[in-house]
Amino acid sequence: MKIVFFGPPGSGKGTQAKLLAKKLNILHLSTGDILREKLRGGDALSIKLKQIMSSGNLLSDEILKQIIYYKLMSKVCNNGFILDGYPRTITQSEFLLSFFKSNNLNLDIILDFKIDFKLVEQRIIFRSKQEQRSDDNLDVIKTRLDKYVQETYPVSQFFSKNFTHNFFTIDASQEVHKIQKELINIIKKGQ
Ligand code: AMP
Repeated sequence: MKIVFFGPPGSGKGTQAKLLAKKLNILHLSTGDILREKLRGGDALSIKLKQIMSSGNLLSDEILKQIIYYKLMSKVCNNGFILDGYPRTITQSEFLLSFFKSNNLNLDIILDFKIDFKLVEQRIIFRSKQEQRSDDNLDVIKTRLDKYVQETYPVSQFFSKNFTHNFFTIDASQEVHKIQKELINIIKKGQ
């Protein structure tokens, strides 16, 4: 099963993707997690990329292309995956769709997490205290949300228009277990 999650930062899509991937026994493919893992080193490039991430801005489409291509081609994706945090720009979505086309793959389900930005701000402040993520403080929330509105929202709109039969909107303000139940129901119906 191949699933794409859309939603602003702090919408809880990472938590839901983790739970759902475990339940379906597929890969949770979070580009944010991959980047944080990859950029642990102290070399100049890692430091520069970490700075961009910490500021709430997006890394270049070219960097993401290399990361995602390598992952999608690897065996870990054979069973299926949940894409969490990719595609985030129109260029990235074009790359993903052409990858799917040239490899004869189909996207099964697209889930779009909707949430009030005020609630996102509260959640991110809470998460920054718990996880100590450098990109989770009030100063950068605005940038992250702005990037979402400018770059990623148009991508989700594109998918909602072009994948009408398998695009679902989720009310992300609900409790974690309620959302998870809803996702599982959507998937059951789609099978
Ligand atoms: P996330 O954990 O998904 O919120 O990602 C954390 C940060 O990693 C983002 O704010 C970006 O700086 C970077 N990042 C993750 N995924 C992407 C992507 N698809 N395109 C560009 N930058 C990304």
